[in-house]
Amino acid sequence: MSATEFVPPLFVSHGAPDLILQDTPTRDFLAGVAATLPRPKAIVSISAHFASLRPAVVVDAAPEMIYDFGGFDPALYEMVYPAPGEPALATRVGELLTASGQDVLLVEGRGYDHGTWVPLEVMYPAADIPVVQLSVQPRRDPAHHFAVGRALAPLADEGVLILGSGSLTHNLHEAFAGGRGLRSRRIAPPAWTSEFAEWIAEKVAAHDVEALLDYRTRAPHAVRNHPTDEHLLPLFVALGAGGAGLRIHSDYDFGVLAMDAYRFASPRVGADVAA
Ligand code: ZN
Repeated sequence: MSATEFVPPLFVSHGAPDLILQDTPTRDFLAGVAATLPRPKAIVSISAHFASLRPAVVVDAAPEMIYDFGGFDPALYEMVYPAPGEPALATRVGELLTASGQDVLLVEGRGYDHGTWVPLEVMYPAADIPVVQLSVQPRRDPAHHFAVGRALAPLADEGVLILGSGSLTHNLHEAFAGGRGLRSRRIAPPAWTSEFAEWIAEKVAAHDVEALLDYRTRAPHAVRNHPTDEHLLPLFVALGAGGAGLRIHSDYDFGVLAMDAYRFASPRVGADVAA
């Protein structure tokens, strides 16, 4: 496979940090998804856990780890994902965004948060592909994140994996309500969660960008599924970076956390999502 082969932008749901340790359909999906893609020469990771007022790109050559969670298995706090950064790519990300009219910040000393390292540890355990982190802007709307993705689209054609990492639904209060614990993780989703997830799948399949960017008004139970929507914003970056999309994984954790994943074709290929 050539290093300049198009790599489909992805959105994945990273779930709880212990996804790495759990035997779940989502873990199995992430472990197998890399084999369905050309090997990327680098990854631009857009994590819901990296938030800023304007797009921030990490330029570090060797990012450290951030254990930005509490109360999980001690083994997680010893995990290290040693993939290098790539300052040259970070600079290019900054240039592409600036050229598109974004006000960009290049930052140093910012490690990998779990939205980045948890899925990557499962997807690319060898940690031998450079990773550049790009933030989300929770105070900005889906259209802004779509525009960020559009600006990054040339990178997908250059063999870079644009990886949005969030959660298709993300109401943590409801996930842990009613004394639910780890034993109730595999419960069926309530209608207000599955109806939202199916609406997104339908609109992505139809490439109805207008509806998707207005999801908060149009999608069923949108605000209940995303009281704040930082975990959905990476989806719009991946949507902007690609063309037609396809849901490639669906599952639920704690009933109310939809763990769906999406893959987007090249905008040049139109509806050919298998490209
Ligand atoms: Zn998260």
